[in-house]
Amino acid sequence: MKAIRSHNRKAILDPDTPEPAPAPGEALVTPTRLAIDADDDAAATNTDRDFSGILGHEFVGVVEQVNLPTDDPLATRLTGVRVVGSSHAPCGTCERCRAGLSLHCPNATTLGLDQRDGCFAQRFTIPATSLVPIPDTLDDERAVFASSLGRVLHAAQMLRLEGKTYVSVLGDGPIALLAAQVMVKRNASVRLLGTHEANLELCTKWGVKHRQQHEVGRRQDQDIVFDCTGSDESVALAAALVRPRGSVVLMRARQHTATISAAAVIRDELHILGSRGCAIAEAVAELTADRVDVLSLIARRLRFEDAPQAMAAAREPGTLKILFDAA
Ligand SMILES: [Zn+2]
Repeated sequence: MKAIRSHNRKAILDPDTPEPAPAPGEALVTPTRLAIDADDDAAATNTDRDFSGILGHEFVGVVEQVNLPTDDPLATRLTGVRVVGSSHAPCGTCERCRAGLSLHCPNATTLGLDQRDGCFAQRFTIPATSLVPIPDTLDDERAVFASSLGRVLHAAQMLRLEGKTYVSVLGDGPIALLAAQVMVKRNASVRLLGTHEANLELCTKWGVKHRQQHEVGRRQDQDIVFDCTGSDESVALAAALVRPRGSVVLMRARQHTATISAAAVIRDELHILGSRGCAIAEAVAELTADRVDVLSLIARRLRFEDAPQAMAAAREPGTLKILFDAA
């Protein structure tokens, strides 16, 4: 079968990839729509992680089979059904998984990013428990955003909004643009601070204010700051914007040197929240109800065969999601 894999630090189309076989508890999925973002390019080029294998972590697909007893309720619920899925693949058997902390499973792998083949293939495998069925009324183009939106909804669930909450979102990629939309729907006063003017302009139709990052005063007056960039500069900016007893939500660790000083955390009694989970079922509900605009986040649509070039396009600063059809 055809697949897009990482080879010699770049993405290539491999027409002779062996067919995958689902292990016990896994599903075999045929993807129908796929999305690329900068994380896929980083995995392909090994810029910030050591990965080799089939790329891809965002998909919509149809479950061909589930390697569970046929009378297992999960197998019945998923077989032949359109699904989306979280890229996080926990082992399901360790102490943390059994304690309900599968997000923090020490044996977990990640689809197309960490120790597990991804979804940029004619068929791929994934733990059945990572899949969520989607209704017929939710089309593939919207559904493929479920894992990105799920990341934002998981982070938002950690926060309590009281009265008029002032929120700054740092970054203007897909996660930042989704975070701004989700927070403004919760009645917060939201501003997005980015660097790419075309992406900032999208905010206008969602009722989100926007500014260039370098224009903003560092007044320590924001109740909540989402950092969706993970660079040294943006983490430092988050610490300079948040008010005493406010919350900083860290969504990404692009530069592992990015720090917030412990002295500042103590002095200002800050809440520093890391977020990496994915509330994917909630995301499917939001997308089905059309409560979040994801179609504006599509930069380009390409064919499966063009995926290696799409990786290069995803690397261009300011590029939003690139979608492509399945092989
Ligand atoms: Zn586990």
